[in-house]
Amino acid sequence: MEVLVIGAGLAGVTSAWYLTQAGCRVTVVDRRPGPGLETSYANGGQISVSHPEPWANPAAPATVLRWLGRSDAPLLFRWRADAAQWRWALSFLRECLPGRTARNTEAIANLAVYSRNALRTLRAETGIDYQAETGGILHLFHTRREVAHLPAKLRQLEKLGIHGRILSADDAIALEPALAALRPRLAGALHGLDDESGNAQLFCAGLAARAEALGVRFNYNTVVQSFDTINGHISGVRVLDAARRAGMLRADAVVLAAGSYSPLLARPLGIRLPIYPVKGYSITVPILDPERAPRLSLTDESRRIVCSRLGDSLRIAGTAELNGYNLDPNPARSRAIERWLETHLPGTADLRHAEHWCGLRPATPSNVPLIGRTRMENLFLNTGHGTLGWTLACGSGRAIADIVTGKPPQPDFPFLAGPQH
Ligand SMILES: Cc1cc2nc3c(=O)[nH]c(=O)nc-3n(C[C@H](O)[C@H](O)[C@H](O)COP(=O)(O)OP(=O)(O)OC[C@H]3O[C@@H](n4cnc5c(N)ncnc54)[C@H](O)[C@@H]3O)c2cc1C
Repeated sequence: MEVLVIGAGLAGVTSAWYLTQAGCRVTVVDRRPGPGLETSYANGGQISVSHPEPWANPAAPATVLRWLGRSDAPLLFRWRADAAQWRWALSFLRECLPGRTARNTEAIANLAVYSRNALRTLRAETGIDYQAETGGILHLFHTRREVAHLPAKLRQLEKLGIHGRILSADDAIALEPALAALRPRLAGALHGLDDESGNAQLFCAGLAARAEALGVRFNYNTVVQSFDTINGHISGVRVLDAARRAGMLRADAVVLAAGSYSPLLARPLGIRLPIYPVKGYSITVPILDPERAPRLSLTDESRRIVCSRLGDSLRIAGTAELNGYNLDPNPARSRAIERWLETHLPGTADLRHAEHWCGLRPATPSNVPLIGRTRMENLFLNTGHGTLGWTLACGSGRAIADIVTGKPPQPDFPFLAGPQH
């Protein structure tokens, strides 16, 4: 079977890998000159199995209201005359209902556990070096109120098959001495034992190289413009190549993995994908003293900021801004991340040489990705991974390869059956 994958980010490259493993002849198309150069380029680096709860949860509306009007708020709505944004926000509110949050959390958890296992297998089989750290994630809490909720949170994770342990502030610092300066403000921590971290772009590049060696073709600098259809079937994919020459690609099946841009490509087919771009920021900062820099990946739960060690650098990432397809950097938001580094890990990294970045998370209101069939018989989706595209990448790629090749996908997850999308 010939399969065309649109997008060479985490979702597209993992789809291509598992499709070629399943015996398909695969071509990947991306407008960029290489793999993982858009949202998968400089994310927080976390394989965060221990954080399956979506942003849309019963506490979210009050939290968002509290943050309104603050330019450095972790979550910022910039209201626009944009029907897609308002539709997304209304659906987000609906997903905050307790029953929906519970269902979404379970779906994400199932896929996350499956995905982490797939990543481990893939790493062992391929030996890709992507600066992986496997000691888990430390979730940091600053108030006693938050810490009081941890036993219930841990019980809920364990029910979902996710392992962790609650640590006092002193135990957390004994485990990760780089947090010593935080002692007066640290109330406790949750150690996600199933978690990992690593450099997503290096992973994309390493996996793409191995896929290419197995015969997968990568057409970079190639923009997908539209689809030709006949009787509910994609008959061709119109592209512009690097020399701006128009061309047509044909395949038996097409996997749409174009991140935040997936809804723009699907819309002319009458397929409305509930994905909105949610901008986030990161800085990548060279480590000054390796002994003082954290090894474990960190999540500051109150600031919604994450920090991962990637080789000789620290990657600090966070913040969410709903402002359309806008990649203009907002200095107030980058500054909030720099301040976090200065106050939480003082003197560990050299901010004068920080690499600043922002990217658009392809977010569904529920944070549950869209994986599976569409109403077009040979068009498949692997997109909408929002805040967890790195965590869910290998599992999603493996599942879509099963679906395309007619096998039942393994995890218990609401895969799309077709006509509704
Ligand atoms: C600040 C930040 C921090 C994050 N931290 C984490 C984290 O710690 N852990 C985690 O699990 N997730 C994290 N994420 C989320 C994760 O990075 C994303 O979910 C993931 O990168 C999405 O991958 P993707 O392949 O769907 O999209 P992308 O990586 O954007 O790939 C889509 C590809 O499609 C191509 N494309 C689009 N349109 C076209 C077209 N018309 N023609 C040709 N090519 C096209 C693009 O060039 C791109 O390469 C974070 C995101 C951000 C922004």
